[in-house]
Amino acid sequence: MVDLIEKKKRGGGHDDAELRYIIRGYTLGEIPDYQMAAWLMAVWFRGLTPDETVAMTLAMANSGLKIDLSMIEGVKVDKHSTGGVADTTTLIVVPLAAAAGVKVAKMSGRGLGFTGGTIDKLESIPGFRTSLDATEFVRQVQQMGMAVIGQTPDLAPADGKIYALRDVTATVDSISLIAASVMSKKIAAGADKILLDVKFGCGAFMKTVADSIELAKVMVDIGTGSGRETVALISSMEEPLGTAIGNSLEVAEAVEVLSGGGDTRLRDFCIVLAAKMLMLAEPLLEAAAATATIQSLLENGAGLNKFQEFIEAQGGNGRITKEPFLLGRAAQTLELRANEAGYIVHMDSAELGRAAILLGAGRAKKDDAIDLTAGIKLHRRCGAYVAEGELLATLFFGEQIDPTEAKRIVTAVIHLASEPPPRRPLIAGMVDKTGWHEKTSDAIWA
Ligand code: URA
Ligand code: CA
Repeated sequence: MVDLIEKKKRGGGHDDAELRYIIRGYTLGEIPDYQMAAWLMAVWFRGLTPDETVAMTLAMANSGLKIDLSMIEGVKVDKHSTGGVADTTTLIVVPLAAAAGVKVAKMSGRGLGFTGGTIDKLESIPGFRTSLDATEFVRQVQQMGMAVIGQTPDLAPADGKIYALRDVTATVDSISLIAASVMSKKIAAGADKILLDVKFGCGAFMKTVADSIELAKVMVDIGTGSGRETVALISSMEEPLGTAIGNSLEVAEAVEVLSGGGDTRLRDFCIVLAAKMLMLAEPLLEAAAATATIQSLLENGAGLNKFQEFIEAQGGNGRITKEPFLLGRAAQTLELRANEAGYIVHMDSAELGRAAILLGAGRAKKDDAIDLTAGIKLHRRCGAYVAEGELLATLFFGEQIDPTEAKRIVTAVIHLASEPPPRRPLIAGMVDKTGWHEKTSDAIWA
């Protein structure tokens, strides 16, 4: 391992056997944390070639069990976001895609850093079970088109270990390492096709559109190379995606959108994602037809019914889809109002995510307990004109929480100015196996 660290440090290349040796050795505990940490830092500075990234991904995907979805009829499509704030899309998009006939067997994660995680959100639904055994998982997807469970420890265990080490050694934000991490899990999870939502901006690992396109290209190449058609949308995390940050607040927002209301920015984005999943499942379908199908399933309530059916299949109280107050409410609330008039020109999503964690919605350390009802509801979005004294946000928190610091952050990051901000489109474009396609029109679908 010392030789391999030395080699990467000097910018040398690894062959497939060397990468398998590193991944296997570290997963089995034969290579200690300090050597792996040194190697990861060498990779951070030197990068991995496309060949090396593929070899590392496959070694990680093969480090544990792989899920076999071949029993399920139809095209199995997975969806994965690189992480965001107020990113409630899975709870909206997967029911819509399933209502359109797509089969979605999804494994999701918990909140990470300042970003939320679908599994935490689902656990805010009374009774909901986020672990099913493999037989139940496959049967449920076969019967009703969707299931969402937590990542099992035996799926790509190399990633779990490496991620924990990267998190504490400042080596998360490497394109090669993120691509290998995400794609190893997707490959082990067994879907036929993969839709990625790669974020850019202050609330994402990749700060610029160019970097997220580069990350997306690497992931699309890995997916395509492993026989799974993979498409990546490039979308902004410059401001929060929806208006709710925090677990039960986000479930309530998903119900609102699936009920035909809610935030239009979040809704339009979810329609694009669901349409894209449907197009992956049905390659002959045109974009306009896929979009129209998803829109009608949203309008006629089929997506909401599918969400209810899914919740009930996993033991949760499906009535929350009609009566979201059953999700419970935080013990305390605090309203923040504009202290001057103006246009909202920026809201830093990473800082808002951090403020939500201070209120109890996320974890500062891996094993911290979270308050599923805590978080932030934004009442106005970027671009809006607000009058002095107008309600900007409500903070939700428990009995024991002092909201002073969260309040300070939220107040500081909602910037008001006398001129409206420039238009910042949510979707920059898309990467598929033929390359980068910039979104140039204002239509819902690029
Ligand atoms: N999400 C992952 O699963 N892995 C990373 O490395 C970054 C985001
Ligand atoms: Ca090779």
